[in-house]
Amino acid sequence: MQAAVLEQFGPSLSVQEVAKPQPGADDVLLQVEACGVCHSDLHVAEGDQPPLKAVTKPRLIPGHEVVGRVVELGANVKHLALGDRVGVAWLHATCGECPPCLEGRENLCRKAVITGVMVDGGYAQYMVARASHALKVPDSLTPEAAAPLFCAGLTVYRALKNAEVARGQKVAIFGVGGLGHLAVQIAKAWGAEVIALDLDPAKLDLARQLGADQALDAGSADDIKALRKQGGVHVAVVTSAAKAAYDTAFRCLRPAGILSVVGLPAEPLTFPALSLVGIEAKVIGSSVGTRDDMRAVLDLAASGQLRCLTEVQPLAEVNAVFERMRRGRINGRVVLRCCAQH
Ligand code: ZN
Ligand code: ZN
Repeated sequence: MQAAVLEQFGPSLSVQEVAKPQPGADDVLLQVEACGVCHSDLHVAEGDQPPLKAVTKPRLIPGHEVVGRVVELGANVKHLALGDRVGVAWLHATCGECPPCLEGRENLCRKAVITGVMVDGGYAQYMVARASHALKVPDSLTPEAAAPLFCAGLTVYRALKNAEVARGQKVAIFGVGGLGHLAVQIAKAWGAEVIALDLDPAKLDLARQLGADQALDAGSADDIKALRKQGGVHVAVVTSAAKAAYDTAFRCLRPAGILSVVGLPAEPLTFPALSLVGIEAKVIGSSVGTRDDMRAVLDLAASGQLRCLTEVQPLAEVNAVFERMRRGRINGRVVLRCCAQH
């Protein structure tokens, strides 16, 4: 089968023929229809972010936004059938026994196995998935539409959920990229008043089309001043990896506002203690999401309230996609088509 393989840390993957993998007793073999390209895949390939140095498999196949058809079932797999369309996220498997797993926070499992980091992912024509963590994709969604929901959609869903976004609240989304444009739609679906912020006018146009109530230039002192004059926001979700976006987002919080950390700047985030105390701000993290979160995201998409802007490219183009991602030249999400025929 064709696959994009990480042979050594660096700017590119090697697209080559490799052996088709064999599923174990608790696994399924998927014919991969689509795999989204996440920024984390770039970090995995370049080996440049400490948590992602967890790459434990030599000759790794990245990719953790995978949708495919079940073409082989392990002996113990009862709840899936041949031909089912399923999706696989960042969590290839969780232990089900550690304290976070028992508390309903399997996304924080200490023994989690990570798709496309610790085991092979979806940049390939076939992939092995743990059956327990392969979730059925609603029939109304195409593979290309569903794939990016498995990381981008899931991550912002949980970030908004952790921030307890409620109807009528003002919610600012910093960065209208692959994650941010989905966050705008979810916050709207939940009845929030959404303010989208970005430096790129085209992304602000996209935010308006997706229903943002306001679209502001994150680099404009006047726009930020105007937002502060409105009293600030209940929740600011920062999907941008720029530290400057966090500095601005923090200044836009209303009293008791929540700053949700999603984008990952290389440098530490810093906030003045006096300001933090003065408004009882909360800074909270969010890490991908659970299977229950993922089902909720798929329901939202199936009901027509969440749609990812996608661009489809053949698997062999993955290095060109990486290069554009490095230069910030991608709107929405790029999805690789892995097997030619669905
Ligand atoms: Zn991801
Ligand atoms: Zn666990």
